[in-house]
Amino acid sequence: TDRIQFLRSKLAQYPDFPKKGILFEDIMPIFSDPKSFGILIDLLVELIQKEFKEIDVVVGLEARGFLFGPTLALRLNAGFVPVRKPNKLPGDLATITFKKEYDEDAFAMQKSSIKPGQRVLIVDDILATGGTALAADELILQLNGSLLGHVFLMELGFLEGRKRLKAPTFTLFSGQ
Ligand code: 5GP
Repeated sequence: TDRIQFLRSKLAQYPDFPKKGILFEDIMPIFSDPKSFGILIDLLVELIQKEFKEIDVVVGLEARGFLFGPTLALRLNAGFVPVRKPNKLPGDLATITFKKEYDEDAFAMQKSSIKPGQRVLIVDDILATGGTALAADELILQLNGSLLGHVFLMELGFLEGRKRLKAPTFTLFSGQ
C-alpha cells in the first residue's frame, strides 16, 4: 500500500556496517519524523489485530524493540515487558545464551514479568538469522507464557530466520 511505500522510503541503507559485507538497514528516520512513526504504529496495530486475538503482553527485544514496543502495547491495551542484555535487570531472572555471528550473547527477563498462561507477542525491528528472536521465544517458554507469535518491521528473507522460530511470524516489509 501507499503507507508501506512511504515508510519504506524512510529507511536508510548503510553498506559494510557494522562490518564488511553487511548492508545495515537504519530504521531511526522513521522515529525522527512523527508522521512516519504514527503510520508505523497504525500499520502494526492493524497487522496485529488481523493476525492475533487478545494479547496480554508485548515483549520488546533490546534495544530497538524498545522504540515502538511500549507504544504498540498501549494501543493494544496490553502490558510491555523488556528482554534485556545481561546485568541490566534486578531481581529473579530467567536467562538464556545464544550464538551470534562470531560470539555468544545472552538475554534475561524478570521471572515475575510474565504470569503463566499470559498471551505474549514478541516485537523487534529486524529478523535476520532468527537467533535473537529464538532466544526470546525460549525465555517466554521458560516462564510458561503462551507464545502467540512475532511481529517485525522487516525480515531479511534470504536468511530464512522465520523457520527457526517457535510461533507464527509477520512483518511489514520483506528485505532484499
Ligand atoms: P538475528 O539474530 O535474527 O540474526 O539478528 C536480528 C537482530 O540483529 C535484531 O535484534 C536486529 O535489531 C539486529 N539487526 C540485524 N541486522 C540488522 C539491520 O540491518 N538493521 C538493524 N537496525 N538491525 C539489525
